[in-house]
Amino acid sequence: MHLHEKYALTPVINAAGTFTPIGVSRSSEHVRTTVAEALGAFFVIDELHTALSREVARVTGAEAAAVAHCVAAAITLSVAAAMTGSDGAKIAALPDARNMANLVVIPAGHAVDYGHPILVDIRLAGATPVLAGDPTGCTLQAIEAALAPQNTACLLLVSSRLVRGDAVNLAAAVAAAHRRGVPAIIDAAAQDMRIGELLATGADAVLLSAQKYLAAPTAGVIVGRQAFVAAVRAQERGIGRAMKATKEALLGVFAALEDRENLDLAGWREAQREKVAWLVERANGIAGLKAEAAPDPAGMPFPRVCLWVEAESPGWTAAAIAAELKAGAPSIWVMGHGLSEGKVYLELVPLHQHELQAIVERLQAISRKRRSDAH
Ligand SMILES: *Cc1c(COP(=O)(O)O)cnc(C)c1O
Repeated sequence: MHLHEKYALTPVINAAGTFTPIGVSRSSEHVRTTVAEALGAFFVIDELHTALSREVARVTGAEAAAVAHCVAAAITLSVAAAMTGSDGAKIAALPDARNMANLVVIPAGHAVDYGHPILVDIRLAGATPVLAGDPTGCTLQAIEAALAPQNTACLLLVSSRLVRGDAVNLAAAVAAAHRRGVPAIIDAAAQDMRIGELLATGADAVLLSAQKYLAAPTAGVIVGRQAFVAAVRAQERGIGRAMKATKEALLGVFAALEDRENLDLAGWREAQREKVAWLVERANGIAGLKAEAAPDPAGMPFPRVCLWVEAESPGWTAAAIAAELKAGAPSIWVMGHGLSEGKVYLELVPLHQHELQAIVERLQAISRKRRSDAH
């Protein structure tokens, strides 16, 4: 019996991307069996963590790596590492950061809300966020001015389709932090397929979500400079206890890395393009709807479906379609960020053909119902 039936849970088709409120991603058989085996066994966790870290560093080409409970935790622990270094007394004192450099500079447009405000992750370490520029943009001069105070701990940048305003040149911002003598951290939770490019900015740490496109169990991966990553790992003796990765997550990440190494990227990209083209063609055949393929704005290597209604009227809008998709059974979730501009975005990466078919049939039913209501 399916878990949904057994526990009376709503069946979901996830066309909303790596969206935490509906379970983020779908793990491979290899990841699932590895996790199941891990749950029945004991390990020397420190050894497991070190072995996995070595593997993450090898696969990503970083100097070093560590793993925390999730990226939210990895942000807090990286901010903590920037404040304490490897000083045991400071690590034990957090989140009381009164006797340390404790200001964290973040471009205002990078102060994203991915379900909660990223500023909370900074405050959780005991640090105080300082916004540079404003939400419409942040110049290098604004970053430099914000970094100037003596008690600046680090610069935090975000690489995500959620950031607002004119794009910040990440490499130039990292260099500005280094000129000021403080580390730079990039939250790139959903950008793991761009890791080489992000490490090339010179950042001391790049943070990746293991459960997003890597499709591992929930974990936050920290990759970057040896000394900085060691200071992140050292937080295990302090606030990191509440943010640790579990044994099943650590082993699940191991398995997901193997999947990624074995992935035929060109074939995968072609399969994503084909899924999107298939759905776009069918959606364009539905009365009142239009669709096209849309590239990822942050540069991840796959398109999404962008869907809109031809002639908006009350009850016939992008938001109304999203609501009807969600209200049906199974519940179909789409991306919400374009709805106010009349655009429904669907991400198809984890979906199987029968789920794409179910989305098309639901859209056809919504269109039919609207035409019969109009008569
Ligand atoms: C998803 C996301 C996070 C949080 O990741 P978790 O692993 O769920 O904590 C942080 N930052 C950005 C930009 C994200 O997209």
